[in-house]
Amino acid sequence: MAAADRLRRARFGDEVHLCSIVNAKRGGCPEDCGFCAQSRRYSTGVGAERFLEPEAIVEASAKAGSQGSGALGLVTATRGLEDGSKALEHVLAGVRAVRDAGHTEAHASVGFVSREALAELKEAGLTELNHNLESGRSYFDKIVSTHSYDARIQTIRDAQELGLRTCVGGIFGMGEAPSDRAELALELRALDVDEVPLNFLVDVEGTPLAGREPLSPRAMLRIIAAFRLALPRQNIFLAAGRHHLGQLLPLMFSAGASGMMIGDFLTTPNRTVDDDLELLASLGLKGMACGAPRPELAPTPKAEVPRRLPVVA
Ligand code: SF4
Repeated sequence: MAAADRLRRARFGDEVHLCSIVNAKRGGCPEDCGFCAQSRRYSTGVGAERFLEPEAIVEASAKAGSQGSGALGLVTATRGLEDGSKALEHVLAGVRAVRDAGHTEAHASVGFVSREALAELKEAGLTELNHNLESGRSYFDKIVSTHSYDARIQTIRDAQELGLRTCVGGIFGMGEAPSDRAELALELRALDVDEVPLNFLVDVEGTPLAGREPLSPRAMLRIIAAFRLALPRQNIFLAAGRHHLGQLLPLMFSAGASGMMIGDFLTTPNRTVDDDLELLASLGLKGMACGAPRPELAPTPKAEVPRRLPVVA
């Protein structure tokens, strides 16, 4: 953690990136991701709803901007957006509305999108695409069977080639081994994504992963630190499940996290924004817009490994 903290400071100083999301199309997804409350394959009580109107999305963007978030991610519970589909039109309208209102950047997490549709989204004002890999390649098919790891990677590469920033992370506490987590970290390093959301499973009644014990706070801190060491340049931020850190929550920054998602999650609760902003202030950290320009990373400081590692149970 000490080495991870040094890397975080070298890159981000006392700045913490803040971002928010809105559930722009809730429930009814045909995919079978085992952690997800929004898959229509599981009885979770989350029903399929219509797309949010652009006005409601702009309202969410205004709220996020007033709370210090630099970006609003439009999230849809869809396998993807097909070329020429109504779903794509809805998302394009939402992205345009957020761009034109000017409260935050417009990001999106919409599943698979063709290069052509990505270009349309970029033209409408999209600056960053989220497309999580969820876990290491070896564990992915234990969690998802309806689409492949490589298909996900292709969408990420297409977005990068079009000049969009990419936000790609995963979920921990799904039963994966430490080696699966390491695989994910190295995959993200090879892809050279820009932002890395770390989520910790919040088990949802009705999903295949219901009933899993959350990871211990110390295990969570080790994961954050390992990702910082593997990904010194990236904004690593904590999203769903960070409440599992309990009293150790403030240590997420000492472990190397440089950002956090604030406000409502998709279907699970988050701490209040006031509590999060108060936490930052009490740590002497400043919230800043996710995606804002920052100085290039100075040569990566060497992580000094103590000769004798402290024994932690
Ligand atoms: S693709 Fe997204 S919305 Fe659909 S089941 Fe998977 S995680 Fe949930």
